[in-house]
Amino acid sequence: MYTYGSEHLTSHNPHTTTKVIGAYFKDRYPEGKGPSTKDLKNSIRCIELGCKVSYWKVWMGSEIAKFKYFFVAYGAWILGFAQMRKVIAVDGTFLRSKYGGVLLSAVAQDAENHIFPVAFCVVDSECDASYQYFFEQLRTHYGCCMRHLGENIRNNFHNASVVYHFYKAATAYNIDVFSDHFNRIRDLVPQAATHLERVGFHRWSRAFFPGNRRFAEKFHERHMKFINAPTIFIPSIEKDIAKNINLGNKLLVHQTINYKYIVTSHDEVATVDLLAKSCTCKVFDIDKVPCPHAMAALRCQYGDDYGRRIYEYSSSYYKVEVYLIAYVEEIKPVPSEETWEVPIEILEKKNIFSIC
Ligand SMILES: [Zn+2]
Repeated sequence: MYTYGSEHLTSHNPHTTTKVIGAYFKDRYPEGKGPSTKDLKNSIRCIELGCKVSYWKVWMGSEIAKFKYFFVAYGAWILGFAQMRKVIAVDGTFLRSKYGGVLLSAVAQDAENHIFPVAFCVVDSECDASYQYFFEQLRTHYGCCMRHLGENIRNNFHNASVVYHFYKAATAYNIDVFSDHFNRIRDLVPQAATHLERVGFHRWSRAFFPGNRRFAEKFHERHMKFINAPTIFIPSIEKDIAKNINLGNKLLVHQTINYKYIVTSHDEVATVDLLAKSCTCKVFDIDKVPCPHAMAALRCQYGDDYGRRIYEYSSSYYKVEVYLIAYVEEIKPVPSEETWEVPIEILEKKNIFSIC
């Protein structure tokens, strides 16, 4: 027996009213399917609850009942994030509009530490199910991490050549180069090729990334423009490098074995492992740019050549060209509705609502 009485529906608080109607629909028509708004209005007014409600309130109530989640990740964001450190911050905030709900957002930081949007999502409430949906969508839209897949290949197929050709294929900019490496994988370990096919090329290959053709052209264009740029890394990182070189010049270095050093200043001792790109101060490990201790170790390891080597020991995310790619794609304006290419499953859902 339904328990909402007419006193709720004729309340002076319209927000409560639409919520009550929403709850009513949700209960009667699970899975978001049900009669049209007009029919529902009649059923509420005449039969079920015996009270008068406006069309707008019923419509709003049925929308609340139908609404689940809404996820947005623009192609430009997906492409940009591919060129960034893979750290995402997720947050949620209550929406205080008439519809209520919660806005979940995911952001990253570009090499200059500017906030870069990754995705946002409107959910009915902040709970495990809505977060699960959000993270599933993030994973679907941002593909699987190339490095995770590479590790997976390494651990399952134990073939160094396959791993080598996997990374070459994943990072190739055009399909011909991709195919050369992928065919080598197929020759070496056919099961590895089958596994990668099953995952889907668009999930891990740059050449198959949606909209890639234009991206490759733009990349080349920008690359040519910056190929003679005065610096290899973006300005803020070049500044950090210069500062760390200066600080490193004041430190005492002692080599323990090849590539490993103890670096001392007047008040601290740090241990640097160049092959692991690691220092006990952890700055080198986390920022992926040599800390002053690592600069001192590099100077000792490579002598006069060390200025050039610094870049090999830093993350390629800081390169000017990589930074530019992150912003190469634009967010396109939405064209008129007649030109939309709506997937069949969405059209079918739309028909269910309008026919019933
Ligand atoms: Zn250090």
